[in-house]
Amino acid sequence: MYDYTIIGGGILGLATAYRLLQERPGATLVLLEKESGLARHQTGHNSGVIHAGVYYTPGSLKARLCKEGAARTIRFCEEQGVAYERCGKLIVATDAEEAARLKGLEERVVANALDHETVSADRLREIEPNVAGAAALLVHATGIVDYSQICARFADAIRESGGEIRTGAAVTAIRESDTEIAVESGAGDFTARTLIVCAGLQGDRLALMSGLDIDFRVLPFRGEYYRVAQARGQLVNHLIYPVPDPSLPFLGVHLTRHIDGSLSVGPNAVLSLGRENYGGNFPVPRDMADMMAFPGFYKLMARFAAAGLYELRGSLSKQVYLERCRKYCPSLAYDDLQPMEAGIRAQTVSADGTLVDDFLFLETARSLHVCNAPSPAATSALPIADDVVARALRKAN
Ligand SMILES: Cc1cc2nc3c(=O)[nH]c(=O)nc-3n(C[C@H](O)[C@H](O)[C@H](O)COP(=O)(O)OP(=O)(O)OC[C@H]3O[C@@H](n4cnc5c(N)ncnc54)[C@H](O)[C@@H]3O)c2cc1C
Repeated sequence: MYDYTIIGGGILGLATAYRLLQERPGATLVLLEKESGLARHQTGHNSGVIHAGVYYTPGSLKARLCKEGAARTIRFCEEQGVAYERCGKLIVATDAEEAARLKGLEERVVANALDHETVSADRLREIEPNVAGAAALLVHATGIVDYSQICARFADAIRESGGEIRTGAAVTAIRESDTEIAVESGAGDFTARTLIVCAGLQGDRLALMSGLDIDFRVLPFRGEYYRVAQARGQLVNHLIYPVPDPSLPFLGVHLTRHIDGSLSVGPNAVLSLGRENYGGNFPVPRDMADMMAFPGFYKLMARFAAAGLYELRGSLSKQVYLERCRKYCPSLAYDDLQPMEAGIRAQTVSADGTLVDDFLFLETARSLHVCNAPSPAATSALPIADDVVARALRKAN
């Protein structure tokens, strides 16, 4: 019997295993991942941004975990020799209305105590000749990294501390008794004293498998990107973000530099017809059936009908997508946008159709489920893992 079984080889499962073995050296631990490698879902398909924590309510858990997470991600990269860059992020207002909203964001940046600079239209032209705007806000702490590389270092450290990682181990059943918790998986059965689940897009299904009575479901939202043609890869020096539209739940398509030297634009946020269909947005029968059977889906669709249509238009038409980027980067051309694989976000939605914004943890006597870990959870992975570990250790006592 193991001390701990962890389900999920994304950044949260791996960070949790890493921190648990630091806190309890010698504990026995097995991490189960259904894919043949690690970080194959949200973690390996994200924008690679180390968020500074601009948007979150001052004093909120998200704001605190993001700021702390960004600092610890950078420290981890320095200790482990993982490439990162603190390139800074420019939020660009393209007209007077957006400039007014940008002022509101600046107040938030001040309240969150983030190092920043207001940028006039003239100064913007100097530091970003290919970007046009009426005003901008430069947040210095934002950075870029490849989260898959961080995961690979976590995995090395877990193995060096005696932990086991099994891939190809899709968990299909969970049985809990007074003394132990057993899981059945494609790589055999595993029994432990405590189970920790960080299953991302499958989080609600694993919670149901554990017998938890949940009133939410995970709805998948595709984040579609384009890769900017290599010849135009030096188009910008910072990450370039639009001022978020308050009627839309996501940040808007942005120009993102990546640590491998490439540049992308995206992601948008379109309802996905399957939880893991990265190649195309085709319907996956089981996922569609679960979505259709969930009352929260219809309420969400009704609430965000206009936003949904806006996103769908950008998804169906590359020209529409391009026009949204050209608002702040006018020299981008149709042929600059080249295909790139989408990411799919796990968005937890309540039965009343509300998007669950905060991190959500649920427990049984012997299990702990991370049921909602939206962006910036990759940035915040280490402090989130600390929280999960503290809960798991309380359980073990
Ligand atoms: C398009 C997009 C852009 C984003 N951009 C950023 C960003 O720039 N910065 C940032 O901080 N955050 C970003 N995020 C958010 C961030 O990527 C996620 O919050 C984070 O990766 C969540 O990690 P996770 O470990 O919970 O989930 P995942 O990475 O999805 O891992 C869950 C794992 O569980 C495994 N699993 C599921 N079911 C089972 C089962 N039954 N048995 C065994 N294994 C199972 C899956 O295979 C998967 O590997 C973005 C997300 C997306 C989708």
